[in-house]
Amino acid sequence: PIKREEEEVSLSAIDYDDVGGLENVKQEIQEVLQYSVEHPEKILKFGMTPTRAVLFYGPPGCGKTLLAEAIANEYQMNFIRISGPELLTMWFSGSEAKVRDTFGKTRQVAPCVLFLDDLDSIAKSRNGSFGDGGAVDRVINQILTEIDGMSAKKNVFIIGATNRPDIIDSAFLRPGRFDHLIYIPLPDEKSRLDILKITLRKSPVAKDVDMQHLSTITNGFSGADLTEICHRACKLAIRELIEKEINEGKEQQRNGQTATDSNEPEDLV
Ligand code: ATP
Repeated sequence: PIKREEEEVSLSAIDYDDVGGLENVKQEIQEVLQYSVEHPEKILKFGMTPTRAVLFYGPPGCGKTLLAEAIANEYQMNFIRISGPELLTMWFSGSEAKVRDTFGKTRQVAPCVLFLDDLDSIAKSRNGSFGDGGAVDRVINQILTEIDGMSAKKNVFIIGATNRPDIIDSAFLRPGRFDHLIYIPLPDEKSRLDILKITLRKSPVAKDVDMQHLSTITNGFSGADLTEICHRACKLAIRELIEKEINEGKEQQRNGQTATDSNEPEDLV
């Protein structure tokens, strides 16, 4: 049974069906989890170390967070998300203990996916607002110690995410830490069609909307861009619906009729 004791812990409502495209990545993750989490003894038998942490990298808005949540749901694990900047702020404003507690929660609520977002921001901050590189090194060391402790746990799976794998501290990428890198690319045409359909699956869509054409002309768009287009279209449709309703009301008043409650547009399916 899954516990839900802490505010920061959530059971993800996102599942694989909410993630458009990325079929190869889903397959790759399935193998990693199946081999490393469900059958670690077989991996050890071959003298290898089970993977407990993977690093998602790729352009922004392409589903890294979404997929991490879906994985937690798929494997009935709790989900905790912490970002690099949050960890830095915690460390600099409070104490190391706070960072330890946050990681401690992950162990308490295992089975759990720990999602460490925006990992590159830690490396970036070396020469930035958090002052001297030495202090940032100490934070990094503490985070690494926590990750090492976490990785030894059978039922905690760590997913890191970054848009800039090139600047991630190399210590994060050592064997036993984020040693398995998975690229989350911009969606191709088929994936864009998937994302459009998923985003609009609960919305009424006019018959003349050609999603296939939309997916063809949106080369270079991220999943987040496509979702934004759909949301804007929905807002416009809602506005039209409301204006139509108001105008119909006025019309009926003029005709001395009472308003009916039917306001479904006829051209929507
Ligand atoms: P960042 O690197 O900026 O943190 P990210 O790769 O983690 O971005 P998400 O936060 O997962 O991106 O995606 C942002 C939003 O874009 C999602 O909440 C979702 O609405 C939409 N989206 C992105 N990729 C997909 C996808 N593959 N399928 C469906 N929706 C997607």
